[in-house]
Amino acid sequence: MRRPVIAGNWKMNKTVSEAVKLVEELKPLIEGASAEVVVCPTFVCLNDLVKTSKNSNIGVGAQNMYYKDSGAYTGEISPVFLKDIGVEYVILGHSERRQYFKEDDSEINKKVVAALDHKLKPILCVGETLKQREAGEAFDVVSAQVKGCLKDLESRNLDDLIIAYEPVWAIGTGKTATSRDANEVIGFIRKQLVELCGNDMAEKTRILYGGSVKSSNIKELMNMSEIDGALVGGASLDAKEFSGIVKFNL
Ligand code: PEP
Repeated sequence: MRRPVIAGNWKMNKTVSEAVKLVEELKPLIEGASAEVVVCPTFVCLNDLVKTSKNSNIGVGAQNMYYKDSGAYTGEISPVFLKDIGVEYVILGHSERRQYFKEDDSEINKKVVAALDHKLKPILCVGETLKQREAGEAFDVVSAQVKGCLKDLESRNLDDLIIAYEPVWAIGTGKTATSRDANEVIGFIRKQLVELCGNDMAEKTRILYGGSVKSSNIKELMNMSEIDGALVGGASLDAKEFSGIVKFNL
């Protein structure tokens, strides 16, 4: 059984005081939830949120990191710094980073390797654009991303790996992939994992859906056999709405 993960990507929203307030609001609302819950605020909020979420069922993740440990990389944050303050997860390869900051599969691959080496749980994002979907390229694009981002992982412990299928056209647009379409692509990703790391690992790896997930559509998505949770953007910024997603089965 794969334990569901519901992760909130707060993007560039919420100041430190707002972030702390949101987690304080969230804590009682999600008590007793069976899903693994993660919130991913901006870098400057991480330290406070690790403290605020202590003794709760909320884990804290970063939205990005660099793959080197330390050195002359102005403006970057490494896995060493994240681990040092108690961060457990890191979103890698989000489509906004691919689009605005020109991250490619080879760079994301180095980040995945570094995250695993430092015992951070990477939430690796993959997904096609609308143009690619309309051209019938969705499966090829996702396959290339999975293979490109998960290279050279032999001898690494993949238990920590989480993947999020996020079709770019569904992010922040209000358009959700149908649960059947999402399930089909996620099943396809799992097949790629069988080739890359074997059947047992592929069966264990949590693969989430992301793209305009709300409390009103999470149940249908979670009823699908391959979907193991959600990466949630906009709807994770409101405690009541996010708790409705987290408690999809209650
Ligand atoms: C995201 O940013 O990862 C995301 C899925 O955003 P939204 O839920 O707002 O579509």
